[in-house]
Amino acid sequence: MEYYVMEENEFMGEKLLGLYEESCRIQEKYFGEYPWVKERIAASETPHLGMEHQTNIAYGNKYKFTQVGGKDFDWLLHHEFGHEWWANKVTNRDWAHMWIQEGICVFGDAMATRELAGEAAYLKKMQQTARAIKNGLPVVQGEEVDSDSAYYGDIYGKGAFFMHTLRHVMGDEIFFPTLKKLATAPQYTYDNTVVTADVEKLFSGAYGKSLQPLFQLYLYTNNKLEIHVKQTDENKYLVKLLNMEMQLPINILTGEGTQRLMVDKKGIIVSSKTPIQIDPDVFYFKKVILE
Ligand SMILES: [Zn+2]
Repeated sequence: MEYYVMEENEFMGEKLLGLYEESCRIQEKYFGEYPWVKERIAASETPHLGMEHQTNIAYGNKYKFTQVGGKDFDWLLHHEFGHEWWANKVTNRDWAHMWIQEGICVFGDAMATRELAGEAAYLKKMQQTARAIKNGLPVVQGEEVDSDSAYYGDIYGKGAFFMHTLRHVMGDEIFFPTLKKLATAPQYTYDNTVVTADVEKLFSGAYGKSLQPLFQLYLYTNNKLEIHVKQTDENKYLVKLLNMEMQLPINILTGEGTQRLMVDKKGIIVSSKTPIQIDPDVFYFKKVILE
């Protein structure tokens, strides 16, 4: 690993290399081996904030480390480095699908939180991410879009949050290997560029059921998932999805604790002595309608 440091910051060089190595271990755990292992692994200090130049990322975060899990962490270094996988190895064919590069790279940033600070800290980070979604435009605005139109803020946060939703729907045993496959299988990497439909087909195939309705709602529209809740009896609630043509696992907090239940448009009856809470940990970007 090489780090090209400004002379006056030389004393920070070793420190940054240590963080860089740790960052590499985390990215490799989730996305496979560093993509340019036969060429170079480097970063260079720059006056601008950062950029994902292949084999030599630009670093300009001025060593402003944050504490994650009680350890120093450099979000900018981790993010630009993540682009060695998401951008430089897995590349969207058109700007329209830029969320694949930015959204999954930001999800990789959340994986660093998970590794360094644990699952609860990761959940909290994704909840903050959900609150920051602007939702003025869809993440994918067509099949061919110019860069100015494509660079809408939600390709980062909403793209990352969509990965979080997929993780919840598919479960870790299927989701993580599938995500790694996207970053390692020849048909999605290096000379082979990808579009959103490729990602959807890969994840649907691994899940064993079509995830197309979920991709459609969250990436091609700015509608939220609508979950309707109606009290039908003293201790009974009818919970159903309004705008989703597939069954989804929803965590529902009842008097007995949290249950993971499959919900669809027909709805299910949930018994609880206390008012129920829908998706308390926030795996879905959603609107709950109480009747
Ligand atoms: Zn980025």
